Amino acid sequence: MAGEPQPDCLFCKIVSGEIPATIVRETDTTVAFRDINPQAPTHVLVIPRVHHPDAASLAAAEPQILADVVREAGQVAADEKVDGTGYRVVFNTGAGAGQTVFHAHAHVLAGRGLQWPPG
Ligand code: C5P
Repeated sequence: MAGEPQPDCLFCKIVSGEIPATIVRETDTTVAFRDINPQAPTHVLVIPRVHHPDAASLAAAEPQILADVVREAGQVAADEKVDGTGYRVVFNTGAGAGQTVFHAHAHVLAGRGLQWPPG
C-alpha cells in the first residue's frame, strides 16, 4: 500500500534504524541525515518516514508531509547557519535526472557557490 515501508528500500531502512546514518534532525514525519557522498560543505537529505517513490508522488498522496519535508529543509539550513549565503533544495526525480534512491528525498545543499543552471 502507498506509504508503507518497502523491504528493499535503503531509506526505509534508515528510517527504521536498520542502516546507520548521521541523523541531524527528526520529527514525527521526517528524518534528516548527512549525505554519505557530500557535494557541498552542507549536504543533508530530508526524507519522509513514509515511503513514496518521489516528491510528486508524496505531494499527491500526503501533501502535508511534503510541506513538512520542505519546512525541515529550511530548519536544516538554519541549523547550519547558512542564512547569509542561501541554500538549495533539490528533488531529483527519475533516473535521467540523477535519482538513484526511489524514496522521496530533498537534498539540502549549502556552504559553497552554487551554479545556475545546475549540471
Ligand atoms: O537524488 P539521488 O536519488 O541520487 O540521491 C540519493 C542520495 O543518497 C545520494 O546523494 C547518495 O549519496 C545518498 N545516500 C546516502 N546514504 C546511503 C545511500 C545513499 O546518503 N546509505
